[in-house]
Order: sequence, then structure tokens, then C-alpha cells
Amino acid sequence: MNPDLDRYEGVIGLEVHAEMLTASKIFCGCSAAFGAPPNDNTCPVCLGMPGVLPVLNRRVVEFAVRAGLAIDCRIARRNRWARKNYFYPDLCKGYQISQFELPICEGGYLDIHVDETTKRVHLTRIHMEEDTGKNIHDAHGDSSLVDFNRSGVPLLEIVSEPEMSSPAEAGAYLRKLRTLVQYLGICDGNMEEGSFRCDANVSVRLRGATELGVKVEVKNMNSFRAVEKAIAFELERQADTLDDGGHLVQETRLWDADREETRSMRSKESAHDYRYFPDPDLPPIILSEDFIETIRRALPELPDARRERFVSAFGLPAYDAEVLTSRRDLAEYFEAVVAAHGNAKAASNWIMGDIIRLIHERKLDDAPIITDWPVPAANLAALIALIDEGTISGKIAKTVFEEMLTSDESPRAIVERKGLVQMSDESAIQAVIDEVLAASPDKVAEYRGGKEKLQGFFVGQVMKATGGKANPPLVNKLLMAKLKA
Ligand SMILES: [Zn+2]
Repeated sequence: MNPDLDRYEGVIGLEVHAEMLTASKIFCGCSAAFGAPPNDNTCPVCLGMPGVLPVLNRRVVEFAVRAGLAIDCRIARRNRWARKNYFYPDLCKGYQISQFELPICEGGYLDIHVDETTKRVHLTRIHMEEDTGKNIHDAHGDSSLVDFNRSGVPLLEIVSEPEMSSPAEAGAYLRKLRTLVQYLGICDGNMEEGSFRCDANVSVRLRGATELGVKVEVKNMNSFRAVEKAIAFELERQADTLDDGGHLVQETRLWDADREETRSMRSKESAHDYRYFPDPDLPPIILSEDFIETIRRALPELPDARRERFVSAFGLPAYDAEVLTSRRDLAEYFEAVVAAHGNAKAASNWIMGDIIRLIHERKLDDAPIITDWPVPAANLAALIALIDEGTISGKIAKTVFEEMLTSDESPRAIVERKGLVQMSDESAIQAVIDEVLAASPDKVAEYRGGKEKLQGFFVGQVMKATGGKANPPLVNKLLMAKLKA
């Protein structure tokens, strides 16, 4: 496959299903928690028994409004439930309670940053619905079983306009959206457990064309990387097909993570196949201004606001603030370090350098919440304090940091145990300088003859002779005095 991708542009829209962090399910009192033994969290309502009636969980509506306000959506003061009719073994009622023509939120946008540019991606809608059960294949010989624990867990479906054009933009949008629902406390964002799921609508068209191409829905991606890879594969497959004179069909394709390809699953049902109609068991939802305003006032600090505060309150560069607020847990980790010691720029440097490198190395990027930090915030703060008070140099601090990764000791204890305390005794450093200069009389002469670059050489020799422990500003000061003498 080697299509001329430059001739085409990708058109990508994303549908995200976010499981809401409510204690109970959307229409019954069963627990909505993940991980219980199969079918433990069920009752006649979420098993779809005849004659039962759903009772709406008020918290679900609050969460939907919270999301809508954070994304600048129009909140529909009147919205209602619809039945989405289809048959599947994990859908016990034969229909899913969802929203169709009157969703709770419409419009809104997210600003994403890719390659130094900001792009605004608009949302079509956000609606509430119930999750289905889960078919379990391959675990019980030839049988497939159904676990209804997930049946009735509340979902927000967040639908974007088809305004993204590359896998990188789709990835940025998803990360931003996940960060936002985590900040809002309405979803844990766990892609592996399926509480934050994404389907992608992907098509290609000749660059500059205004008509949309044939849309393919891609499913079954359970990490950000999988979404990006699946979209990249699909864009290439479609462009390749068109270049070969083939035609594309509207269909649903599954991402196969092992073979890194998409495979056709079924031709896509069109919307009327679901025979949506208003659910007669549930009244329309009427939202008062009071209800909405109470939620608006209680919104937590959102990523964009936090980013601005990091710049204004801590004097951080905009880039640092952007990286540090890209995850709620990372922002909180940073604030904990600063609360313990104060030097915000140093904290930012350590986190953006060593901590983020380790997060990548340990493949924690996709984890919904990092709890197992490479070093606890208090220890990182203590390490920065040791540098700031002159006990160790920045160079020695790197050695101490490496030690902290495998030890529970405090940085101070490590410094003492390994004898790494910085040499700040002038006479001791002076003695080392004298030795270094005496060992290289020719270089000293060159320096005094005008080759001032040799200063770095002398500093290096002194640091080497002291095992990196000499206080660098002091070395510089004493060395200059001696050389200029
Ligand atoms: Zn139930």
C-alpha cells in the first residue's frame, strides 16, 4: 500500500462513550462499580424484566449538565428519552434507553493543540444513555455467556463534528476530552476497562473537495495509541482503494490490535433502522435555571483556567503550564511538590524532564490516574530543597534522584549515607584548585594568554577531583580569582 496520501485529506469525527462515575446505575439502585463477579450487580430493572419501570438517577443529569457547561454547549431546558430498538444478546430489553431528537446538550467546542497550532473542534451533541451488558466469548469453551453488571451503567455519548483531519488531531481531541471529564469528576477515563471508549468515523476526499467521502466507522480501540494507529491505517486503506479505482462502502470495521489493521464487521445500519421513539416510561426532563446555575457555580477549576493560574501564580512559562495541566493528576502532583517546598520553576523542570520521561518509560501515559509516581511528591520537594540550600549540586541531585527510584529513603538520608554533601569549604576547594592548576601549567599559561574558554576545562577538572561534590558557584569564584591573579 503506497497511495499518494497528499492528494487526499482525512475527515474524522469521534464518538466517545464515557461511563459516568455515579454510585448507582441510571434507572435502578444497583451498583455501577466495575469488577464485581458476573451478574452480581443486577435487578429486574437492569435485567429488562417485563413490567418493571425505570426511575431516573438525578446525578446522571447533573453530570451531563456539568459536561455541557464545561464544553460550552447549549443545555436543552427540555430534553427527553428515546428508545433505540435493536436486538443483541447483551441488550436484554431489546431496546436501549437513549436520547435521539432532543439530546440534553448541543454544540460546544474543544480547542486542541497540534504542532504549535490551535484548532477548534466543534461538538455536535452530548446525550445520556444506558450501557448494555457484555458478551463473554472464548472463556467457557464453546459457550458465550452474558454479564449484565454493565447493563444500565450511565453513559454520556459525546459526538464531535467531523472536523479533525489527522490521527494526531484525533489523539489530541481525545486526550483533551479525557482530561476534562477527569477534572469534572464525572468519568475515570479508563480506556482499558472500557469506561472511556471511542468510535471513529473516518472518510477521505480529494484535497479541496467539499463533499464528504464514504464514511467508515472504526470500533474496538482501547488506547489512545490504538485510536491513532487505526485512523492512520484506515485513511491509508481508503486512499489506496480510491487510487486503485475501487469504491468504498459505508460499513463498520473493527481494529485488530495484533495485526494492526481494520477488518469489516458489518454494513452500517442507517439511523431509521433503530426505529427511535420517545420512551413512554419516562417523562421529558425539564431543567430549571436554578438547577443549571447551581451546577455552574460548583464547577471545579478546569484545565484551561488551571493553566492560566500556573502562569500567573507560579510565574511558569506557558509551555510548562500546558504540559503540567494536561493531566489532572500531574497538575496535582506539581502543586503538592510546590506546596512542600516552593520553588515552582525547579519543580516544573524536574517533572517535565525526569518524571515525565519515567512516566513514558513505565508506560503510564494511558493510565487513567497515576498513583504510583516514580518518586513521591514530598521526596521530590525535599530533593529540590537540598539543591536550593546548597547541600548538593544539581549534578549530584541527578545521582540522588536515580537512587530515589529504587529506595524508600528520603533524599537527605541518601545524601548522608553516600557522602554526597556538597563541598562548600573554601579552603578545601582552594587546595584542589591549586593541585589542578599545578598539574597543567601549560594550560594555565594559555588561559592567561587569552584563551578564556579553558575556564570550563579547569572547572571540569576540579569537579572530577572532588567527585562532583564541589559547590559550582564557589569553584568558579575561587578559580577566577586564582587565574586572574
Ligand atoms: Zn438494577
